[in-house]
Amino acid sequence: MKLNTTDLTSILKASESPVSGLIEINDISIDSRSLRNTKGTLYFAIEGAFHNGHDYIEELIRKEVTYFVVRTVPENVKGKATFFVVEDTLKSLQEFVAYYRTLFDIPVIGITGSNGKTIVKEWLNFLLHPFYNIIKSPKSYNSQVGVPLSVIGINEKHTLGIFEAGISLPGEMAVLEKIIQPTIGILTSIGSAHNEGFENLDQKIDEKLKLFKGVDVLIYEKNESIQKKTASIQSHYDWSFTAEARVRFQHIKDNTYTVNYDANSFSVDFPFSDQASVHNIASCITTLLALGIDTAYIQDKITQLYRVEMRLQVKNGLQQCTLIDDSYSSDYQSLKIALDFLEQQKTHPQKTVILSDILQSGFSDEILYQKVGTLLQNNNINRIIGIGPNISFYLKHLQHFEGFHSTLDFLNHFDLKKFKDETILIKGARSYAFEQIVSELEEKTHETVLEINLNAISHNFNFYKSKLLPETKTMVMVKAFGYGNGSYEIAKLLAFHKVDYLGVAFADEGVALRKSGIKSAIIVMNPENSAFSTMISYQLEPEIYSLPELKTFLTEAKKHSLYEYPIHIKLNTGMNRLGFNDTHFEELIAILESTNSVKVASIFSHLATSDMPEERKFTLQQIKLFQKWSSYLTDQLRIKPIRHILNTSGIFNFPEYQMEMVRLGIGLYGVGNSEQENEKLQNVTTLKTIILQLNDVGEGESVGYGRRFIADKPTKTATIPIGYADGIRRAYGNGKGEVSINGKRAKIIGSICMDMMMIDVTDTGAVVGDEVIIFGEEIPITELALKWETIPYEVMTSISQRVKRIFFKE
Ligand SMILES: *Cc1c(COP(=O)(O)O)cnc(C)c1O
Repeated sequence: MKLNTTDLTSILKASESPVSGLIEINDISIDSRSLRNTKGTLYFAIEGAFHNGHDYIEELIRKEVTYFVVRTVPENVKGKATFFVVEDTLKSLQEFVAYYRTLFDIPVIGITGSNGKTIVKEWLNFLLHPFYNIIKSPKSYNSQVGVPLSVIGINEKHTLGIFEAGISLPGEMAVLEKIIQPTIGILTSIGSAHNEGFENLDQKIDEKLKLFKGVDVLIYEKNESIQKKTASIQSHYDWSFTAEARVRFQHIKDNTYTVNYDANSFSVDFPFSDQASVHNIASCITTLLALGIDTAYIQDKITQLYRVEMRLQVKNGLQQCTLIDDSYSSDYQSLKIALDFLEQQKTHPQKTVILSDILQSGFSDEILYQKVGTLLQNNNINRIIGIGPNISFYLKHLQHFEGFHSTLDFLNHFDLKKFKDETILIKGARSYAFEQIVSELEEKTHETVLEINLNAISHNFNFYKSKLLPETKTMVMVKAFGYGNGSYEIAKLLAFHKVDYLGVAFADEGVALRKSGIKSAIIVMNPENSAFSTMISYQLEPEIYSLPELKTFLTEAKKHSLYEYPIHIKLNTGMNRLGFNDTHFEELIAILESTNSVKVASIFSHLATSDMPEERKFTLQQIKLFQKWSSYLTDQLRIKPIRHILNTSGIFNFPEYQMEMVRLGIGLYGVGNSEQENEKLQNVTTLKTIILQLNDVGEGESVGYGRRFIADKPTKTATIPIGYADGIRRAYGNGKGEVSINGKRAKIIGSICMDMMMIDVTDTGAVVGDEVIIFGEEIPITELALKWETIPYEVMTSISQRVKRIFFKE
């Protein structure tokens, strides 16, 4: 887009125009890490709670980015680029895209609601693509930042936009409305949840309805109050399963419904039967009717709806590959996101992309693939596999490119053993069935998995960050395999969040992180003398807790001719586990003064009762002692190391003692040590499996070893492949523990076996293959901990390594 700088200045509401004349802008960006940042990018320096976009300008100028929207021009870059100075960079981003949106006069569907926004959007995209050239929000980009980044994707070729809008605070929807400017509105569901940020449900509804300020058509589940509130909208398409409505659904049998609309009536087979899906299908059918789509088409196409996979999954592949599975979507916008994610998660030097034809982009094929080619080149992809007639034609001259006509053609002619030590992004349109490729490349294991939600980890990290001053450093404990959750995947994410230190228990954990490419500073908390040499070769920094340990380390340090190697001094202020106390100080000082082989990077101590309000006095005593001792040492040694004492509960309960750094552990993984803390955290891990077999057990019959369960009435049982060898306590059986199936609870009955257990599914309607949740959102880890008479730390770390870990990002 070519823009006059004076116009741009007024659109952005910048204080003055930095230069005059026409400038060409071909992308906008808010993410300094994205490899798409190049010459024509307009970069908005957004100030988030955790990152400040202004900090990355210098680096971006080195990448040839020249146009910046900033609140202030940082000293170090003055005069080196073109800066538009504004009061609020996020507002300017929104204003810019709102202006951009006015350049296109096309119908736009705006979707909001408590649930189902992304699914309805994806389904409408699928249902409507034969009729329109559609631009839609990628993934669930529906926030104050996500919406502008979606809408900026519109171009001249598009004939329909579908965008979703999500809000968490009053006032936000008006902003999103200006950017989306929908002409057709869909309210998916209003929900009953009373949200934080809103006084009551009514206020939340009023806020949501602001999206529909300018629409001509509104689609919603029949509701008198909404009807009244939106009376000024020209055309209402309300639907209902129970009441009279413009579109009325009647359940006939099984999955068949009759749709009555005006004088028409036709029947449709719904492909799903859960209530949420049924409602989303009703929203979609009503939208199709409002757009005048033929009923025969609706009848046929609805049966082809699919489960929407909203996540990018990270999986272990064969030959030490890592797979990023995005096998269900292919549009240009989401390709950009997936490539950013690939860069963030790459665990091997080699990056590979397997990409299908992009079916609808709004560009001509020639321009589309030119853009895709540039994008892949900018991202330094080492191997590109294109599948489909168009991509293999247009990109054939690209370096590192191999083309195939179809998925089958690829699977039959490409030797999969060629993939080795690569991070592979697999991304394709549904019709290319890339799940076949994923399944060929994936490491095979049994059905029990531990799922780790990377978004929740980011959320929890940011929550604790919000308790701290911006300059306070963070160390994150990834010991014990990241509290059982997997270490390098999490370490990768943490590096992305720019944590200052990672903490591991033993040297070999640190070595494993280094071998998978983690460059962050790593402290080893329990360094064994025998590992010092290895630690030095892998740049791992020891915790030093005693004089003998210090002396041994110094001997090793001299052997390696080290100069000022960072060490971390641990003080024992009351835990009585490891650490120095004041009787050691004179010798400690004397030794440290006499050497320059090492340097005290930090001094720290560990709290024994930061989670116990009743021990507040003891905690304060530990903190005071730490302050006294650390001041003594730093005064005597005339050094200014980092000081740190707070763990997770310490950050929550004693933030005033954050000093220069804190050490976050369990909270990152979604579990705090109090109710109030847990409310602020998101669930990270879900342990799940599936039903292998169902049994009808008659009254008086028994189940399992030792006949510990005897049915007192006819009982339906299910067998699931998880047992005590996976880390589930045997004592959790015999009616004590519960699992969750389709949102319903089921008791574990009989004795838990080594690899299996049985559950009572009598009233759950469960079938073979259904997903069974052992813990997660539905059954919190704290519940297991209580029943196992232990703490969540032990539950988390006891899940056996044979259970496959799957990481995902929404
Ligand atoms: C494990 C550990 C932590 C983190 O504790 P959480 O309670 O999980 O936050 C902090 N410091 C040290 C020294 C630790 O060993």
